[in-house]
Amino acid sequence: MNKSDATMEKLVSLCKRRGFIFQSSEIYGGLNSCWDYGPLGVELKKNVKEQWWKSVVQSRDDMAGLDASILMHPHVWEASGHIDSFSDPLVDCKSCKRRFRADHLKEQKCPECGGELTDERQFNLMFKTFMGPVEDSQATVYLRPETAQGIFVNFKNVQASARMKVPFGIAQIGKSFRNEITPGNFTFRTREFEQMEIEFFVKPGTDTEWYEYWREERLNWYIKLGIKKEKLRLRDHEQDELAHYAKACADVEFLFPIGWSELEGIANRTDFDLTQHSKRSGKDLHYFSEETNEKFIPYVIEPSAGVDRSTLAFLADSYVEEEDRTVLKLDPRLAPIKVAIFPLSKKGGLLERAKKLESGLRKFYTTFFDEKGSIGRRYRRQDEIGTPYGITIDFDTMENGTVTLRDRDTMEQIRISEEKVAEEIGQRIAGLPD
Ligand SMILES: [Zn+2]
Repeated sequence: MNKSDATMEKLVSLCKRRGFIFQSSEIYGGLNSCWDYGPLGVELKKNVKEQWWKSVVQSRDDMAGLDASILMHPHVWEASGHIDSFSDPLVDCKSCKRRFRADHLKEQKCPECGGELTDERQFNLMFKTFMGPVEDSQATVYLRPETAQGIFVNFKNVQASARMKVPFGIAQIGKSFRNEITPGNFTFRTREFEQMEIEFFVKPGTDTEWYEYWREERLNWYIKLGIKKEKLRLRDHEQDELAHYAKACADVEFLFPIGWSELEGIANRTDFDLTQHSKRSGKDLHYFSEETNEKFIPYVIEPSAGVDRSTLAFLADSYVEEEDRTVLKLDPRLAPIKVAIFPLSKKGGLLERAKKLESGLRKFYTTFFDEKGSIGRRYRRQDEIGTPYGITIDFDTMENGTVTLRDRDTMEQIRISEEKVAEEIGQRIAGLPD
C-alpha cells in the first residue's frame, strides 16, 4: 500500500468532514454500526444505484424492475428456510456477558476476560417485530434479510404482466436487515443495509452458461465505473462454503483498506426458491414456454450487490493524495457534484454573471457555487469531494463571454464560451465507456 492510499481512518474522517457519511444519532452518542448519508453521500449513493439500474434494467430488453415491500408474509421466511436456518452459532461469556460467534473462536474460553463460555446456541439473524396492535406469535413479522424473496414471490406477477419470456431477470434495489453479531469496518458490515439484487430466471441446463455470463458482466460493471482492475477479483466459493441450495457461487472482491472483501455475490440458486414457494403457497410457479411447449421451474442466477459496500469501494478506490491536494478521482457519472462555479472576484458584475451561469447549469447538473477564498483553495475543496469540472468566471468573461473550464484529474484548463460549456461537459460525461 502506498502512503498516499486511503486508509479506513482517512475515509471516515473525510466522509464526516465533507458530509458524505455521519454516525447515526451522533448527538446521542451514536448507534452501533448505523450510518447516515449526508448531502454528498446521498448524491453519490443515488448515482451508484442509478448506474446499476441503467446497466441492468433500462439498457436491456430481458430485465424488469420491482420494488417490493420490506415486510412480507411470515410464510415467505418459512419457505425460504430463513426461520429454521438463517442463524449464527453463538456463545456467551459467563463472567463479562459478552457474546461471540462460536465458529470464530480459537479456544473454548472468553477472548476478552478468559471466562467460561455457555454452550453454543443458534441465534437467528432476522429482526423480529409485530404487525398490528397485538404482540403475539400470530402477529410476528420480520424485517426482510434480503430483497430476493420479494422477487421470487412476484415471479408470476412480473412474468405475466410484463409478458417476459425465459430467460429474463427481475431487478430490485432496497433495504435489508440482519442482526449481525459482529458488524463493523465503517459501512462495510452494518445491520441495516441496501441491496441491488437480480434474480435471472433461465431454463434448467442453461444455468451454468448464464452463471458464467453474469460473473463477467458484474465484474466489468465496476471496472467500467472506474475501479482499478488490479483491485478487483472473482473468487469462486469452495464446495463447503456453498449454501445448501446453491450449485455454484463466486464473489466479486475489492481490495478494501481492510483487505480483500466481498462486494457482490453471484450464485446459481437452482430451482430451490421457486420450488419452495410453490410447495408452501400451493401456487403453481412453473413456467410454460409456448415456443417449445415445455413446462419447467426455472433455475435462478442471482447477482447480489451491496449498495453501501459499492459506495465505500468507489470512495476508497478514487481516493488519492497528491503533493498539494487530496482528490477523489470518482467517475464523473458517480460524482455528487458535477460542476463547481467560481467567480474570480465579487466585483465588476462577476458574481451576478456567475450566478446566472450556475442557474442555467442546474437544469442539467448538480452544481456548487463558491466565491470564498483564493481560487486555488476553491479548486482543492472541490477536488477533495470529487467534483470533475470547475468553471471560473473572470474579467475576460465580461469582455468576451468566455470562461475557463478545469478538469479535476489533469488540472488542464481550456477557455470556452459560456454558451458552449454545458454541452462540453455533457460530451465529456457521455464519452465515458458504457
Ligand atoms: Zn468474558
